[in-house]
Amino acid sequence: MQYQCPQCPKIFPKKSSLDAHIKRMHSEPLPATPPATPTAPPATKSKFEVKKPPKKVVEAALYECNACHAELSKGQNPCPNCGEEMNWSGL
Ligand SMILES: [Zn+2]
Ligand SMILES: [Zn+2]
Repeated sequence: MQYQCPQCPKIFPKKSSLDAHIKRMHSEPLPATPPATPTAPPATKSKFEVKKPPKKVVEAALYECNACHAELSKGQNPCPNCGEEMNWSGL
């Protein structure tokens, strides 16, 4: 009767030899889980990630002629539409 090691192909003529072999060669407990791999910390959202409100499109023409109500740029004088003198000093 031969005794084969259940964990390797070695064969032993005596049970005691097999037991000794197992104790000597296979007593190391197998690691239950693979070594933990270092995991990167979860990506945290930046504190400074603040959503900015969309910039308002600045309208080019904010003023209009007092006489003809044509759109004027600030400081435009006289009115290109009617020639009226604009007084921008009051702004
Ligand atoms: Zn063995
Ligand atoms: Zn005008």
